[in-house]
Amino acid sequence: MRWQGREESSNIEDRRGQGGGRGGKTPGIIGIIVLLVGAYYGVDLSGIVGTPGLSGAPQQQTAQLDNQLEADLRKISGVTLKSTENAWKAYFAKHGSQYKPTTMVLYRGGTRTACGTGQSAMGPFYCPADQKVYIDLSFYDDMRKKLGAQGDAAFAYVIAHEVGHHVQNLLGILPKVNQAQQAVGQTQANAHSVKLELQADCFAGIWANYAQQENLLETDDLEEAIAAAESVGDDRLQHRHQGHVVPDSFTHGSSADRMAWFQRGFKGGDINQCNTFGS
Ligand SMILES: [Zn+2]
Repeated sequence: MRWQGREESSNIEDRRGQGGGRGGKTPGIIGIIVLLVGAYYGVDLSGIVGTPGLSGAPQQQTAQLDNQLEADLRKISGVTLKSTENAWKAYFAKHGSQYKPTTMVLYRGGTRTACGTGQSAMGPFYCPADQKVYIDLSFYDDMRKKLGAQGDAAFAYVIAHEVGHHVQNLLGILPKVNQAQQAVGQTQANAHSVKLELQADCFAGIWANYAQQENLLETDDLEEAIAAAESVGDDRLQHRHQGHVVPDSFTHGSSADRMAWFQRGFKGGDINQCNTFGS
């Protein structure tokens, strides 16, 4: 990505200096406080990133990033967020309304959110109750080492996906689906969740379409982003974690579907192409 020298978003709340616990001295804390209270929308790495089992398997610590890498990731996040703001501002304006940007919270280890305590072991997530995206930059390391997703555009895809949940919130889709989920059983609720997640992937594709016009993306970036979408598919994660795949328990969608919806958003550049609820 051509992120060097570009303007960053001002909608960033940097809590990295506030501590929040890397967890080294408090055994088990990272694993125990994994779940947030209330609805939130994350990458869901609970299966593979440092969640101890009931047997009390040793916790993993949040990775320490090299200083230069962390500074670069901070810049990439700011530039990507700005690019999503440009994209959605233009899109909303074109359709006669105004985009209200999300705030991105950078934190280390754990932090308070309106959805409960956020932990970096969960991966990046969006909390609709405070309309903020939460991200621990060390997720970049997890992506690379545990998911095999490489590169700055892979990281940018995840940010654009979380911003996609914010757009769903602004459009009233999140609360509506959330309500529908209360009224049905687990399998149905999971199916709704998959549709939300695939739509957020499609919205991330719309951003990529715009970012390409903005000349932010380089030749291999699209492939990087698509590979990242593939790496967080439920079938891929389940296979990695438990050795078998249970489609009824999918909450985010298969690798093939996640890639397909991202590409659909990218090609169409239009939210009408992102009706994952239509079929
Ligand atoms: Zn999501």
